[in-house]
Amino acid sequence: MTTEPTHTIEEAFARGGWHWPEGARPYRVARCHGCTELILWVITRLGRMAPYNRDGISHFATCPVAQSFRRDGAPQRKRRTPI
Ligand SMILES: [Zn+2]
Repeated sequence: MTTEPTHTIEEAFARGGWHWPEGARPYRVARCHGCTELILWVITRLGRMAPYNRDGISHFATCPVAQSFRRDGAPQRKRRTPI
């Protein structure tokens, strides 16, 4: 038999019309916590999670409320200012 499954996760996302930067690995599609846009979480070469739009542009660059959240949608931490 020569029925080898050729479905990779990259293939599945590419078929869905998603683009992501070279060297990064697509992880999962989710909705932005801020603007509810569909985004693709990828794992960058540095091992960090980063959200991307379908066209391969960083969602942080286009999200209208990007400043209200940090990566992974985690609530922003308050920073103490040294006195
Ligand atoms: Zn957004």
